[in-house]
Amino acid sequence: MSAREIAPSMPPAALEAAEPTATALLTIDLGALRANYRTLRDLAGEAECAAVIKANAYGTGDIIAATALAQEGCRTFFVATFNEGTRVRGAVPQATVYVLDGFFPQSGDAYIESGLRPVLSSAEDLADWITFCRDSGAEHPSALHVDTGMNRLGLRPEEAVDLLGAGGAGEDYVPALLISHLACADEPDHPKNAEQLHAFEKLLAQLPKCPASLANSGGIFLGQPYHFDLVRAGFALYGGRAVEGRPTLAPVVQLHGRIAQVREADAGETVGYGAAQRLERRSRIATISLGYADGIFRHLGAGGAQSGLVGYIGEHEVPILGRISMDLITLDVTDIPEDLAVRGGWVEILGPHVRIDDLAERAGTIGYEVLTSLGSRAQRVFIEPGQEIS
Ligand SMILES: *Cc1c(COP(=O)(O)O)cnc(C)c1O
Repeated sequence: MSAREIAPSMPPAALEAAEPTATALLTIDLGALRANYRTLRDLAGEAECAAVIKANAYGTGDIIAATALAQEGCRTFFVATFNEGTRVRGAVPQATVYVLDGFFPQSGDAYIESGLRPVLSSAEDLADWITFCRDSGAEHPSALHVDTGMNRLGLRPEEAVDLLGAGGAGEDYVPALLISHLACADEPDHPKNAEQLHAFEKLLAQLPKCPASLANSGGIFLGQPYHFDLVRAGFALYGGRAVEGRPTLAPVVQLHGRIAQVREADAGETVGYGAAQRLERRSRIATISLGYADGIFRHLGAGGAQSGLVGYIGEHEVPILGRISMDLITLDVTDIPEDLAVRGGWVEILGPHVRIDDLAERAGTIGYEVLTSLGSRAQRVFIEPGQEIS
């Protein structure tokens, strides 16, 4: 039986690209990523659709994701940290790249040298930046973050008005982009959304005119009033469910683990650490080369979450047995045809049967954490319809 037949849920192109030594395959569908960008850009209407590619583009691979998105016409990117910015800078030389999380004293020169824009998030950030620009004798673009209800980063609206409104200390500072962030955009009926929208509109009315941005993925779905000049799409781009109860866009990520061994054990024997699972029947166990070090939360094993991990071999569900180890997971393949669970075969952990948000729900977390935990140990395969895989 060919490898393709034993794993019909795996895109054939990705499977063919698997190295003989690969233990896990993380398949990134760049065609789906591009399609999701076009969908979100269309939803954003007149507003520019920027891409958030922090945390290695939510685990998918920031340089390749940014390159594909730039080819779709994306002109503005957001990263969380300065180092993330320098990683992607060369991949998208024409694009504007904003760094969201923290502008620190004495870092102005580094921003200019790297061609990155800081997002200033406090009066201190702003004062430092104004001084830096004055000393360097040039204006450099930056964004300003105003808090409308998160209390993480951002100036309070009244502070922003004091500093930037008529007669303010920073009167000669005009942000290239004024941003705020929604706390509850994934819950469309949450009253906080409208509260933040009103606070943001009120603030904009009191400041000199500048481009504004409020919406993350969820905010894009809240409709045109939330879009302003630019939307910041993250999770939805990567196939996550950005809004409760709403279908997701195209799935981008699949994860498959390789079967290292299939063994039999008798009723009464135990499986794995802590002897946490005692077999109730004679069982066949497939051990795959994936574990919590690959971002499969240990909580999904015996003694953890109520609904444990399930894998799929073709259309067959294969539930977990025992605990999740650092590098291994044991699955119950007793009930599936013997020739489907074989050494060297593949088990779907994320894919058509198990979406990011399904796995998150089983683990009691959110899809964002699932994606960003996937780590770097799996072989990454990028597929692009109609093109050679890489
Ligand atoms: C992460 C982030 C985004 C993207 O949010 P998603 O929900 O992933 O679309 C947008 N804006 C800010 C400030 C962020 O930190």
